[in-house]
Amino acid sequence: MKWTMADPGMAVAADLVVTQLMSAGHEAFWVGGCIRDELLQRPVNDMDITTSALPEQVVSIFARCIPTGLQHGTITVLQNKYGFEVTTFRTESGYADHRRPEQVFFVNDVKEDLRRRDFTINAMACSIEGPLIDPFGGAEDLHLRLVRCVGDAEERFEEDALRMLRCVRFASTLDFRVAKNTWRGLLRQRDKLAHIAVERVRAELEKIVEGPHPRRGLGMLSRSGLLQRGKAPFPWTGSDLAAAAALSAGIGELESARLRWALLLHALGRSAGEADELLRAWTFPGATRISVAGVLRVREAWTAALREVPAGDPAGTDKLRRRWIAAVLAYGREAACGWLSLLRVLPPASYSSVHSESKDRMDFPDLGQSWISQMPVTALTDLAVGGNDLAEAMDKRPGPWVGSVLSELLLRVAVGDILNDRQQLLTEAKRMVGHEQL
Ligand code: ATP
Ligand code: MG
Repeated sequence: MKWTMADPGMAVAADLVVTQLMSAGHEAFWVGGCIRDELLQRPVNDMDITTSALPEQVVSIFARCIPTGLQHGTITVLQNKYGFEVTTFRTESGYADHRRPEQVFFVNDVKEDLRRRDFTINAMACSIEGPLIDPFGGAEDLHLRLVRCVGDAEERFEEDALRMLRCVRFASTLDFRVAKNTWRGLLRQRDKLAHIAVERVRAELEKIVEGPHPRRGLGMLSRSGLLQRGKAPFPWTGSDLAAAAALSAGIGELESARLRWALLLHALGRSAGEADELLRAWTFPGATRISVAGVLRVREAWTAALREVPAGDPAGTDKLRRRWIAAVLAYGREAACGWLSLLRVLPPASYSSVHSESKDRMDFPDLGQSWISQMPVTALTDLAVGGNDLAEAMDKRPGPWVGSVLSELLLRVAVGDILNDRQQLLTEAKRMVGHEQL
């Protein structure tokens, strides 16, 4: 195999691993995703190796190994600064819970090993010099741009239900179609998705949503009805997803993965709180949840502002500007900019109900951005006074009043009513506290 799409250092190291296995008298091949991606001229990320050597033989050949999945015959071999999964040729049988094979048998023939693999495009192997080993027509399917199960689709999905999501994932990320029989098998077995751990489903969903053709995958998820069968609540029906697909048509234009999730949850009509709960149920990391919910909270604040400021109000633009700046301070600049990015890819019709015909409102994404860039302060740490300064200047014991005075000062400076000047801030603070005491 001539590698043009792999990191050259990794290709050299992988070559060494394969050569050493062969010098010890074993067969060894690159297999799976790396062959698929090289043939497609897509970046090759990891290079898996399959071999006739038994795990203990692999361990005896290489100085640095990690027994990653010893019982399934997988050893990670460390070579130079790279790690390679080296797996003994094997077959599988007796899948427990529609996911894990109960038994694996080591075999002598690489073709037997290829037979257990999920799709024809993932079931090709190649040695250093030899021809492509492709017993199931993977190269042709790459050419036809088809995802097709190795063997009987229904059986293969029944054995391991995760393959159904992998099928959608490969069709989505590669922009392939799914072979007819494979799709039919998927529809027949879709209920089995209930056996798959939520983390696994989420990992595949992330690859779909964050990949280069998310609409393709979302459309297939909607048509297949797969997600409604999962363990975690995916509380939308196929028609919800279809409506969401229209709203999230621009999803592929968003660079940020978190913004893609925010757009999707917005398109699905979820509140910030509901989005937070869903992301938690889907086992997303806390940082993703907080950031997605933040964007949706800015949406809620802005939608309320648009509703409450009458369209014909002559001071309307300034009122909206103040509301917008308050939202930026409450939820952070990143969340606010995130919402502006979402507005830029949403079809205009989807927010025209809250955006009146007035020019200011129609131009909002740009206007909101310029309002943010004109803010002299965006966080309490930017203020020229701190809590201790206030307490001292007012000769008052620090307490909850400090926080509320500081955030009020921050807002006034941010909207441009007062300057971020120590003396002016203290005077203003005294006035505010004085008022409260009246
Ligand atoms: P990528 O790494 O880009 O996600 P990949 O094809 O390398 O794609 P992996 O999950 O790394 O996918 O798996 C490596 C190979 O193992 C696959 O190419 C396929 O041959 C086989 N494989 C992985 N998961 C399954 C499965 N659930 N059922 C059958 N074969 C599988
Ligand atoms: Mg891989």
